[in-house]
Amino acid sequence: MKAICPNSPNHKRFSTVAHVMEDWEVDENGNFVAVIESLQTDHGPDPGNVWTCLECGAENEADVKFAKEQLLESLIERLDAGDF
Ligand SMILES: [Zn+2]
Repeated sequence: MKAICPNSPNHKRFSTVAHVMEDWEVDENGNFVAVIESLQTDHGPDPGNVWTCLECGAENEADVKFAKEQLLESLIERLDAGDF
């Protein structure tokens, strides 16, 4: 998986959602007070989520990134197989 900013390949910092299990401090009703500790990452960054470039603000669908990677991989396979 590689995120590619649609505006510049030099943009390498993105924000996206990860699902993290945390140990929380709560009040007597179970309301959130503070994060004590992040225990584990349940799901890392998902290519199906929107990724936002932190350098220019562009939103980047991971399906496009995967499509590019798959195209590159298939081209390399065909090159290795002597198709060109
Ligand atoms: Zn960008």
